[in-house]
Amino acid sequence: MRIGVPRALSFYRFHPTWAAFFNCLGIELVVSPPTNRATLEAGLPYAVAETCLPMKLFYGHIRALVGQVDQLLVPSIQRLAPGSSNCARLIGLPDLLRATMPDLPPLIAPDIDLSQGLAALMSVILEAGALFTLNPLALRDAVAAAWSAYRSSRQAMMEGRLTPASFDRPTNVVSWLPDGLPIAVVGHPYNLYDPFINHQLLTRLARLGVNVLTPERLGPQPADDYWAFEYELVGAARLALERGVKGLIAVVAFGCGPDAILVDEVQRLSGERGVPLMTLVLDEHSGEAGLVTRLEAFVDMLHWRKGR
Ligand code: SF4
Repeated sequence: MRIGVPRALSFYRFHPTWAAFFNCLGIELVVSPPTNRATLEAGLPYAVAETCLPMKLFYGHIRALVGQVDQLLVPSIQRLAPGSSNCARLIGLPDLLRATMPDLPPLIAPDIDLSQGLAALMSVILEAGALFTLNPLALRDAVAAAWSAYRSSRQAMMEGRLTPASFDRPTNVVSWLPDGLPIAVVGHPYNLYDPFINHQLLTRLARLGVNVLTPERLGPQPADDYWAFEYELVGAARLALERGVKGLIAVVAFGCGPDAILVDEVQRLSGERGVPLMTLVLDEHSGEAGLVTRLEAFVDMLHWRKGR
């Protein structure tokens, strides 16, 4: 039994959790290859033009797995905290796929709603596991392994020992220069950690002598945000400003409704503190050369301000 996992969207939040769960049940997970131009081209026919780039890439990753696996893991992430709401596209992922791709293998599509408490989450996970075994002890062990992997991966990311980019492959994780320029890069993990989507933004910043702070490094998410992923932009920007970063980069996707609202708040926060902000809007037409020029100019300006 091989279960396919698209390297997109919730992969960058929950992969260690699902990997621990299924590995404990002896099931092989197959992650789609890293994103490239072919991934985008494979996804484009399934999305209307206004769809955000992360969704187009998600479709492309699904296409890379069709024919290679027996089932696909596509959770519907509904709420991450009581009272919060999630992007409709992320809630409706399984339905969107079923409506657009008739040749899919069966979907494993649990509803993840953390507002119902841990017990409800565990029952959803058990339901997913029951598709593969009815042995209660094996399921209990798999749930325990998943929970432990979730907690330890969050901790490791906060300490800079792990990033979502290295969830399934050891890469150089966070480098920290003793006299590096501290800049926060805020946004959703699928926008920050997929080097194709952002033209290797984090690597380029590291090469420019920047110590990058991302939302995962800044601390646990407060429970009172309205949007489930609000923390990744506004909450992280607020924490980073309190920690005295010298600049902020907000990474948002063109066509993303929640980001369009939240980036205004990031702008207000950085304006209040007098900290320069650069907003990068990602779509499939953004050019690498333009990004590099903007980044270099932004970092030069921050060095100049620091020297002054
Ligand atoms: S939150 Fe925004 S970028 Fe993410 S899937 Fe929804 S619309 Fe796309």
